[in-house]
Parts: sequence; structure tokens; C-alpha cells
Amino acid sequence: MNIILFGPPGAGKGTQSDNLVKDLNLYKISTGDLLREEVKKKSALGIKIKSILDQGVLISDDIINDLIESILSNKGYFNRLIFDGYPRNFNQVKHLDILIKKYNQKISCVLSLKVNQDVIIKRIIGRQVCAKCGLVFNEFFNPSTKENHHCDIKFLQKRSDDNEKTARNRFETYTKETLPVLDYYQNQNLLYEIDGTNHIHEIYKEICRIIHSLET
Ligand code: AMP
Repeated sequence: MNIILFGPPGAGKGTQSDNLVKDLNLYKISTGDLLREEVKKKSALGIKIKSILDQGVLISDDIINDLIESILSNKGYFNRLIFDGYPRNFNQVKHLDILIKKYNQKISCVLSLKVNQDVIIKRIIGRQVCAKCGLVFNEFFNPSTKENHHCDIKFLQKRSDDNEKTARNRFETYTKETLPVLDYYQNQNLLYEIDGTNHIHEIYKEICRIIHSLET
């Protein structure tokens, strides 16, 4: 099963895809995470990517499409992928269709988390990522505790693009370039919309309900 998780920045795609990875033995492709890995390397490409991430606009499709092909062509992940943050515009949708056909796979569903801009801004400003285990928390809504997180709090970090100004730009980019792509998936009967303002566990229950309905 290949799943696309859709939603504005801060909608909770990362958290929900981590749950699915654990429970369904899937592999997550987060294009945002792959780009941040490149930034960490401080390569020439990484430096260029960082300045674009900090503006809250999209990275060029060529860079993204190459990253995706290297994963879709890997037989170890055959039909077990969750796309988090991809595709983000029509060009990427078309390219994904070509690759899906080329590697004989299919998209099972597109899950769209709907969250309005005010909630998004609060979520983004409070977001913390553990540099050691990769878990994502929110200092207001879902803080790291001894029960839900076993690493030292010194590993909790903020992303450089998680500030109010960039968050507003990212939301605008999402509305203009990414949201229209949903019509395409709706026309293929692949789209499921989910209220992303609910509690994390409620959202996950709804996601599981949809996935089980596809299997039966
Ligand atoms: P994310 O972690 O998904 O919120 O992505 C963070 C940033 O990475 C975005 O604001 C974009 O600048 C860039 N990015 C992530 N995924 C893509 C993509 N599929 N296409 C273009 N840019 C992307």
C-alpha cells in the first residue's frame, strides 16, 4: 500500500506518518526531512536549499523528483511508502504518476488533513523535534514528557523555518500551489479528507478506519 499524506505545514503529517510506519511496517518519504538532511551536510546544494527553506517557498521540482525516483526505484520499499509533503504541485503529481507506472506500483489513497491557518501558526511556533530519535512534540499541545519520550530534553530543537513569518509564507505557498492538486486526486476517487484539528489519537483512529475500509 502506498499512501499520500496531504496537509498544510504543521498539520501533523509527520506525527501521523510515524504512527503508520510503526503499525503497518511502511517506509516514510518526507521530502522536507530529506532536504533538511542535505542542509545538515552543509554541502553547496545544502546551503542553497537552506536559503529557500527559510523563505517558505518550494524547492525546484528537479531536485525533488530525483530524490523521489531514487526511493521508488528501490525494491525494498515496493508498495510500502508513505509520502509526507509530496507531491506539492501539479508538476510533481505528473512526475509521480510517471514513476508509479514505471515501477509498477499504485497509490492506494490520499489522506488530507484539514487545519486552518490560525491553528497552524500556533502549532508551528510550538513545534520541537528530537535530534536524537526524530519524534515531534509541541510545547503547547503535546509536550515531551518522561512517558512519551525517552531522550534527554537537550535534544529538542526548533526548525529554522518554524517562525511566524516563514510559517505564513509556507501556508500561502500551500494554498496557492499545493491545495489545487487535491482536485486531481478527488477525480480519481483517491481522496479522503480528515479534520486535522482533532486530537492526535482521534485523527489516527480515523486514518486507520479509512485504511481498513480499503483493505476489505
Ligand atoms: P516540510 O517539512 O514538509 O514542511 O517542508 C519544509 C520545506 O521543504 C517546505 O517549506 C519547502 O520549502 C521544502 N519542501 C518540502 N517538500 C517539498 C516538495 N515536495 N517540493 C518542493 N519543496 C519542498
